[in-house]
Amino acid sequence: MNDVNQTAAFAKPSEIVAHSLSVDPEYGLDDSEIIARRNRHGPNQLRAHAKQSVFVILAHQFKGVIVWLLAFAAGLSFYFHDVAEGVAIVIVLVINAAIGFVTELRAARSMEALLNIATVTTRVRRGGKTVRIDAQDLVPGDIVLLDAGDVVTADVRLVHASNLQCDESVLTGESVPVAKQTDPVSPDAAIGDRACMVFKGTAVTQGVGEGIVTATGMETELGHISHLVQTAESSASPLEKRLDRLGHRLVWLTLGLAALVIGAGILRGHEIAAMIQTGIALAVAAVPEGLPVVATLSLARGMWRMAARNAIISNLSSVETLGATTVILTDKTGTLTENRMAVVQYLVADTAIDLHKQGETVQFESDGNVLDPGQDARLGALLRIGALCNGASLGKAGETPSGDPMELALLRVARQARQGRRTLVPGCEKVGEYAFDQATKMMASVHRDGEEFLYAIKGAPEAVIEVCSCVLGPDGIEDLDAAARADWLDRVRIAATDGLRLLAMAMKRADRADAFPYEDLTLVGIVCLRDPLRGDVTEAIAAARAAGVRVVMMTGDHADTAAAIASQAGLGTDGHHLTVIEGKELTDLDPGEVDGLLRDRILAADVFARVAPATKLNLAALYQNSGHIVAMTGDGVNDAPALKKADIGIAMGQRGTEVAREAAHMVLTDDSFGTIIAAMRQGRVIFDNIRKFVIYLMSCNVSEVLIVGLAVGAGLPIPLLPLQILFLNLVTDVFPAFALGFGAGDETVMHQPPRDPAESVIDRSRWITIAVLGGAITLATLAAFWLALHWLMLDVGPSVTVAFVTLALAQLWNAFNVRAPGGHIFVNEVTRNPWIWGAITLCLGLIAAALWVPSLSDILKLPDPGLAGLWLALGASFVPLAIGQAFVRFGPEHRNKSSAQT
Ligand code: ATP
Repeated sequence: MNDVNQTAAFAKPSEIVAHSLSVDPEYGLDDSEIIARRNRHGPNQLRAHAKQSVFVILAHQFKGVIVWLLAFAAGLSFYFHDVAEGVAIVIVLVINAAIGFVTELRAARSMEALLNIATVTTRVRRGGKTVRIDAQDLVPGDIVLLDAGDVVTADVRLVHASNLQCDESVLTGESVPVAKQTDPVSPDAAIGDRACMVFKGTAVTQGVGEGIVTATGMETELGHISHLVQTAESSASPLEKRLDRLGHRLVWLTLGLAALVIGAGILRGHEIAAMIQTGIALAVAAVPEGLPVVATLSLARGMWRMAARNAIISNLSSVETLGATTVILTDKTGTLTENRMAVVQYLVADTAIDLHKQGETVQFESDGNVLDPGQDARLGALLRIGALCNGASLGKAGETPSGDPMELALLRVARQARQGRRTLVPGCEKVGEYAFDQATKMMASVHRDGEEFLYAIKGAPEAVIEVCSCVLGPDGIEDLDAAARADWLDRVRIAATDGLRLLAMAMKRADRADAFPYEDLTLVGIVCLRDPLRGDVTEAIAAARAAGVRVVMMTGDHADTAAAIASQAGLGTDGHHLTVIEGKELTDLDPGEVDGLLRDRILAADVFARVAPATKLNLAALYQNSGHIVAMTGDGVNDAPALKKADIGIAMGQRGTEVAREAAHMVLTDDSFGTIIAAMRQGRVIFDNIRKFVIYLMSCNVSEVLIVGLAVGAGLPIPLLPLQILFLNLVTDVFPAFALGFGAGDETVMHQPPRDPAESVIDRSRWITIAVLGGAITLATLAAFWLALHWLMLDVGPSVTVAFVTLALAQLWNAFNVRAPGGHIFVNEVTRNPWIWGAITLCLGLIAAALWVPSLSDILKLPDPGLAGLWLALGASFVPLAIGQAFVRFGPEHRNKSSAQT
């Protein structure tokens, strides 16, 4: 095989290109050849986003303030010849770095793996068969089949192009789609002028095509400029940034406090070296350096959970935004309904024909008479138009059908009526096609029929009836006057009110193939299809309502069909009084200029029917301007701008085009509305979890600073030694915090209104919670310390052990204090979290080891306080739990939550 010179492929006829790439476009490549080429050219990828290397992550652990503080403390110990303590601090430092390293590595790898889930596929012809493959597996010489809505995944020399247009703005910056054809162009044509090529990264906006892959991966035009494209790195989410900022502010506060404690201690006559070490230990305790990384890890974990529930998100910020979403603008077909269509009735002039399915065949019945499609001209014509004007394919036996489910339903009924495409259209060679256009809402195909040409048209009833001048009546073609037209539209409305999806069928004959298809047509009838509501939709919509999220339908379908489906689904404020606005009222909508009344009407509407994609974009903008956080579904090429504009653009994994999937923030692999609500719940749970561990960690840390600070200030002996603080803070605190980050959420999370996106992670009432919880732990520990000294009459050493055990246990129990207000005291999201029990068991083991493993208790300076001391510590440790529980039950957060729920 000679590699084709990529710059020349567009200047050569396609046969030469095929020859030089040793491929027959009608057959494609063979397996052995594919493997050989894949080995030679590698995967069809742009240079992978630089994977974060293990060393970079490791080095990162040594950049934080904590490490330097610890290193300084260790140095100090060695300087004062306290080798054991110096070594212990170094060990703590290593453990701290190891935990940070593992966490960060897991978060990074999780994110990278998530990016890989959302792979793009491509249709190719290989070994004579059409198959869909992962776009990464394309090799030069592959034959690619392109369709409107596809993202082009390699550079391709076209062999066939029908009405093909591509959006090449990624490469050329030109946003108007470019028409494609197959003839070679001049060797010095610029990229934008190479009309016989389509390029990786561009999108097919219209038509179909076929071509030979000439370049893959970094060899493509996009590869050449990929350093420009790769700037779309995933950046830190707003939440991570906010936590980072919070952390930084606290660093200074903490260092100030530590300096204060050191100063006070020295003034009180404590040893300078001991005080410096205590100060450093406190600073280490209170610096919440791990916050952003724990946040990343819980976000990434949440994303995995969502992926398992069919919602793929490749961006951390979207997880956050999901939780704050206030309105979902959803389409109807396939999202609320199953997109499993079946023809149930035909309307022809002055009668209706019902369809009864009998096993694999169907029976047509009108006014009690069984009709034979071979005999009844109108029924025959309806079946015939449905099969002719159709882009779908049922395939041969055993093959999976492909194409629009509505068109497949038309083919299926034709086949069941034993009027398959071939019997219906003998020799009716297709000579032209006008693809379905959302603006005209019609589609046409042109067929040679003897000396004449037959035009078969189908489309939205209002659109088709408008351009019909005749109708096929029982006795042949009749004129269609204004009264008859109005009558037809009434019949359409009545059928739509039943939730049926309607298509008008029309035809005409002409003596040439290039006549304008949409004029002087003869209306044959209306096809009524039923598309059942998805099973879980009503429940999901009720769940959205309970969560304070509005659901609004935006559809291209008829207003009455849309309203009927919407009311079945339970949309609207009370499920019945639906407000419907038709798209034609909104064609000139300017989201910036809408006056108050119209704006209020739009914002109150439950259904937008017959809307064009441009209107969807404007509506999304209008909602956003009115302070909403908008989630929006879409599947077509034209939906891409609206999907990008929405705060959460949601594309359908099965039904959607690649272009829509690329533009979206979330892809639903099951296309189901219920999945959006499940993902939204996850978004809220993740935010709540992050809040929980921030409150948990900060209340624990505050208590450590206060215990030492207050004891020093009050002239007591120091109740916690530096190594003990480090042990508690860097070993035992961490596990419950992680466990809280992994919780599955509380039952009330979807009974709250959406979070205000501007609301900070730690608002005023949560600062109060931190202060109360931290204060309670401080109080209990200092009280236990004082009682050990003055009531049990223990020495300072064993009393310190009592303080240590009190604090350690109180911190473990503190995890139960961060439960959501309003939940049950014993059965709630924290007690149901298995990770919490695991973390507590592990930490109890660690505390026991600190007390009873001799070498460890020596290093940590934890002499045995005796049984009475341990009982005192155990008892005291439950006091903060009791105070915390009372606070959750009656505190300000509880009041906020109950008022939000009512
Ligand atoms: P949704 O926006 O909820 O997916 P939809 O699929 O009905 O709804 P469109 O695809 O814009 O929205 O279709 C609008 C109308 O055009 C349909 O109600 C139908 O009458 C008609 N229509 C849809 N697809 C075709 C087609 N392939 N050929 C002819 N007419 C079609």
